[in-house]
Amino acid sequence: MADINFIASVVVALAVVFVAYKYFNGGPDVQSSKAGNSTPFGNSKADEDGDSRDFVALMEKNNKNVIVFYGSQTGTAEDLASKLAKELSSKYGLRTMTADPENFDFEKLDTFPESHLAVFLMASYGDGEPTDNAQDLYSFLGNSPSFSQDGETLENLNFAVFGLGNVLYEFYNKAGKDMHKYLTDLGGHSIGPYGEGDDSKGMLEEDYMAWKDEFLAALVAKWGLTEREAVYEPSISVKEIEEDAHSHDVYLGEPNLKHLQASKAQEIPKGPYNASNPMLAKITAARELFTNTDRHCIHMEFDTTGARYTTGDHLAFWFQNNEEEVQRFVKALGIANPQQPIAISVLDKTSTVRIPSPTTYETIIRHFLEINGPVSRQVLSSIAPFAPSEEVKKATQQLGSNKELFASHVAAKKFNIARLLLHLSGGQPWKNVPFSFVIETIPHLQPRYYSISSSSVQSPNTVSITAVVERQTLTGVDHELRGVATNQILALSEALVGHPSMTYRLQQPHDFTNSLSSQDIRVPVHIRHSLFKLPGKPTVPIIMVGPGTGVAPFRGFVHERASQKAAGKEVGKAMLFTGSRHANEDFLYRDEWKQFSDFLDLETAFSRDSSKKVYVQHKLKERAKDVFALLNEGAVFYVCGDAGGMSHDVHSALLEIVAQEGNLSSEDADKFVRKMRSRNKYQEDVW
Ligand code: FAD
Repeated sequence: MADINFIASVVVALAVVFVAYKYFNGGPDVQSSKAGNSTPFGNSKADEDGDSRDFVALMEKNNKNVIVFYGSQTGTAEDLASKLAKELSSKYGLRTMTADPENFDFEKLDTFPESHLAVFLMASYGDGEPTDNAQDLYSFLGNSPSFSQDGETLENLNFAVFGLGNVLYEFYNKAGKDMHKYLTDLGGHSIGPYGEGDDSKGMLEEDYMAWKDEFLAALVAKWGLTEREAVYEPSISVKEIEEDAHSHDVYLGEPNLKHLQASKAQEIPKGPYNASNPMLAKITAARELFTNTDRHCIHMEFDTTGARYTTGDHLAFWFQNNEEEVQRFVKALGIANPQQPIAISVLDKTSTVRIPSPTTYETIIRHFLEINGPVSRQVLSSIAPFAPSEEVKKATQQLGSNKELFASHVAAKKFNIARLLLHLSGGQPWKNVPFSFVIETIPHLQPRYYSISSSSVQSPNTVSITAVVERQTLTGVDHELRGVATNQILALSEALVGHPSMTYRLQQPHDFTNSLSSQDIRVPVHIRHSLFKLPGKPTVPIIMVGPGTGVAPFRGFVHERASQKAAGKEVGKAMLFTGSRHANEDFLYRDEWKQFSDFLDLETAFSRDSSKKVYVQHKLKERAKDVFALLNEGAVFYVCGDAGGMSHDVHSALLEIVAQEGNLSSEDADKFVRKMRSRNKYQEDVW
């Protein structure tokens, strides 16, 4: 699920959360498989300030009257929270801050002043669960907090809620709905209607903007606010400093101090490894899995000695931007000396800067900013005042304020920010854009997650991933669309044999352990533990459904069962439903599966090998009797891959199979499948 998901302002009380190498995404913050939350650098101010878990006291101390909480997994909700806080401040002079609910206690929510406002931007994950950083808040509110004896206890609370979700998931936007219900039931007053956004069709931002307009209108009416011309006032300071750009005191892409110090000592950074301290894993092998020349799928292996994983976990890959795009961004902003060392500090006490400092302009662009994704309408509106001429400013403002014009002239052309700025200005650099604005406005890079396709029993110190390289050529778009992380993975695989076709800085920032020509190529990664797991007993049968790269974790499952069998253990029956477009071109691990034919029942679906498109759900239905028989033997049913059509179609096919083979009504089949889920017999890892 992709996030997450930009505004001129007056000096502001905004919790600027800059997460270098942040986590999660590939998209949004919304209703996807779970991934770890991301706070690699330092704690929020709130954590540093003594008894700072009391946000009401923190607001009073820092003279704030609006707090924007975010339940964020991949950064989308967090990013929207920052932008909303900026807008409320710049347009209406409100004294705003953003807050991670994980950093606060909510026992004193009933003391929240009536003159204040609390906004909640809450993403849902998986089965409608709140994000990791909002779990405690939900359990507190959901367990009838006893602020007082008499029911309605938040009568002073003015609040607004917007949920971020994905309609393709069964419990769409449950976290947003629940938050609105909890606060309303406890007597709070909603300013404007509850709103929610659907990420399934890439329209989350438009849903958010439509809700925001209604919320702002209600707030303006209730508080009698007057809108003023928004003036950008930074929450952070960016200063050029006198320092040697190659000094080992300047961060050139290291995610934290441990990494910087290790580079000084010419060492590999030590563990423990986690989301705040990724390991520099050596790439030990890589190979192409497709035989077709225009598409790529890379099997890549990493030496992860020192980090523990179990089969079914995810590998988080902390990637960087392609040099071509880094240089385009430098040109678009007219940065004269991109390697100039700079120091970053906060101007607002409630803010936190997570980009390590001192660093350089280029480092931030290369390692910290999502410069390659689609541009949001909010970013465009907020950058307009810095246009190189009045004419360009007008055109930019028009695009930012007109949904239809933006859709046809920006979104449809698939510009990234640098391409768009250069297009709008006819190639003139946007020299007036302050770099603090860039850091505060452009979303921050999120690591990409990959299902681990190896077995921890078979290879405890080597993790493999199976990544399809994202490249698209679209009619009406004058450039090839390239996914950032997967194209770096391709470049890394090519660099292993000495022929990288793209320009990525694959050597370590301070160039100490390896170089492009060396075999010792390392990248920052960490393991994210998942709940997608083989049954504890190897005898329990399993049914795995994973077309395309959805087969990745099942390769690990099958290898694990094979090594258990080789060790003399009895293993249960295993059915694998996988597929691709063509049997001879993109059937992943085609030659490997044969060696497991003694326990693996493999069914393949190739969608483009015949006039009739055949998908995994068709194969499932063809094998209805066997599938149902295995379910009755206690099999666990797994689905991995596309969260869109595939997982829905597989779910519908399973309902049909259960109804038909079990002779059940559709209601009873639904109950049967729900029971499977509640007993962990139906597990999904979809994205
Ligand atoms: P991104 O840079 O995120 O781009 C995404 C898409 O946007 C691409 O199609 C790209 O062409 C398009 N795009 C680029 N620029 C623009 C623009 N300016 N305007 C509009 N569109 C644009 N993937 C796998 O291959 N294998 C796995 O095993 C796997 N497991 C996963 C497990 C989990 C839990 C999750 C959450 C995801 C998993 N993914 C997996 C998906 C993976 O994390 C990435 O999302 C995927 O590899 C694409 O990353 P990217 O950085 O290459 O693409």
